[in-house]
Amino acid sequence: MSEVEEVIEGRGIYIHAVWSKEPDKGVAEVKEDIDLIAKSNFNFIAPYMRSGDRANYRKSSVLPKLNYTEWDPLEVIVEEAHNKGLEVYPIVCTLVDGGFKLGEILNKHPDWAMITKDGRKIGWADPAKPEVIEYEVSIVKEIIENYDVDGIILDYIRFPERDYGETCYCNHCRSKFKEEYGVDPIKLKEREPLADKWDDWRRERVSLLVKRISEEVHKLGADLKLGAYFYAGVTNRYYVFQDWPAWIRRGYLDFSLPSGSFYEYASANMSLLRRSCLFHRRVTLDIIPSYVTIHVTSSGGVLKPGELLWAIKIARETGMQGVALFDWESLEPKTGIYSFIGYNPLLAEARMAFAKKAKIPHRVTNYSKSLRESLRVQV
Ligand SMILES: [Zn+2]
Repeated sequence: MSEVEEVIEGRGIYIHAVWSKEPDKGVAEVKEDIDLIAKSNFNFIAPYMRSGDRANYRKSSVLPKLNYTEWDPLEVIVEEAHNKGLEVYPIVCTLVDGGFKLGEILNKHPDWAMITKDGRKIGWADPAKPEVIEYEVSIVKEIIENYDVDGIILDYIRFPERDYGETCYCNHCRSKFKEEYGVDPIKLKEREPLADKWDDWRRERVSLLVKRISEEVHKLGADLKLGAYFYAGVTNRYYVFQDWPAWIRRGYLDFSLPSGSFYEYASANMSLLRRSCLFHRRVTLDIIPSYVTIHVTSSGGVLKPGELLWAIKIARETGMQGVALFDWESLEPKTGIYSFIGYNPLLAEARMAFAKKAKIPHRVTNYSKSLRESLRVQV
């Protein structure tokens, strides 16, 4: 009796909604994309479905703007992907609506906007407000209820970068903190003991939003998975109040998509990717599968031939449970970055790395015990 070794590895692809608005053309484009994604042995698709005030799925009664009114990208993606054995986790960009200025949702509900220390409203919804939490939950809910998806990925699940100014100093947050700690946070000075509590308090607003969404997702389907994208380093705990280790340890997430982006992969930054993957595993102890996001394109440019294989090799060597490549637009041959030569060497690299088909890991990995033991020896 011969034993065939089963490959277990998450292989995701981020995909932006850049299809034609015209139904026949748009549907054909999705079908062509998914066909090639499946042939390239990816096993899950992460399509951006909500950004700010816009929905890329048609059946939204929550979001004010529909990008597609003549046909429904998510409906076609789910059907095609499932036919080809791929899972679908739509990406919901939470909280941010407009960025520096207010988007349509926040214009309608200006009291939901975060407020900076110097009193400016910004285009981010405040996760401390119960109405905002319900709004965010309702978006996730309508996607799950209307489409046969396998889960949801949260992006922008955090505070804005501190470049926007310190937030959130709205009356609601200030009075809630004061109720608990007796001090208006706007009066706190840096390095005061309570300043740390104020950071914790804000961090916890984001964590509680993740908790609430997680409860809703799992109530809607026991098999549905909730994932989130975040930086793999520690900076985000301080820079954007994203306490992702807590989300994992408290059981809110079923998988994670830590960033592997250093804006440039060449040479030295590959060692940053390696360190980042190892760091991530030491924090999460493989409680859930983690698929490191490899940015084929980023604000720093595009990977050079050879670098994608290198990055995937690092993910494997460091024991990540898979990779998610950002994004399909930079990999696919027709409109991708290498389209001028009619061939995409980076897609060829992905296909080489994924030569054998692989299954997506389960929620609880059975090698976490041995990892814990091996880390104990190393630390
Ligand atoms: Zn606030």
